[in-house]
Amino acid sequence: MNPITHLLAGWAVGLPADLSRRDRGLIVLASISPDLDAAPALIDLAKGRSLQDLELGSRFHHSAHTLAFAAAFSLACLLVARRRFAAAALAFAAINLHYLCDIAGSRGPDGYHWPIPYLMPLSASWQLSVPWQWGLNAWPNVLITAALLALTIYYAWLRGCSPVGLLLTHADRAFVDTLRNRFGMPADSSPR
Ligand SMILES: [Zn+2]
Repeated sequence: MNPITHLLAGWAVGLPADLSRRDRGLIVLASISPDLDAAPALIDLAKGRSLQDLELGSRFHHSAHTLAFAAAFSLACLLVARRRFAAAALAFAAINLHYLCDIAGSRGPDGYHWPIPYLMPLSASWQLSVPWQWGLNAWPNVLITAALLALTIYYAWLRGCSPVGLLLTHADRAFVDTLRNRFGMPADSSPR
């Protein structure tokens, strides 16, 4: 799925827990980070290749979509997060949710399923994919993204924070104030 959907999904994974801004940021980063393996596509584009002809991007994409990557990222959370175990567990969940979303809804325009090599580099025996996978720009992805966006806006109104605040605290404050001016204050508006 696209990075915006993964970002919103990572934010949603962290919502049930009482976490600091930094720990929420780590979980969002966990949710989008497997797609850093698509970065070599930028080299293809710099070489003048078209989107349909990305040699390096095709070769490396999904190489970080593995159990080992999820475990390594979670281990890093144990070292740097404030609520170490909660952040590590939720980061692990967010990365595996990313894989599930890709398995369900990331079929390429050429029909390729982009299987998830979950046990690499230890074993190539698990190449996770499903025959009913839908396309990257199919309507279920639009629906999922819209639902996650609605959830994000609702919780921004309720709790006073949104993913915008991970980078821009003033913009986040203005966003929350706009929502609360429009829809009123929630019964419990204490920040979390
Ligand atoms: Zn992915």
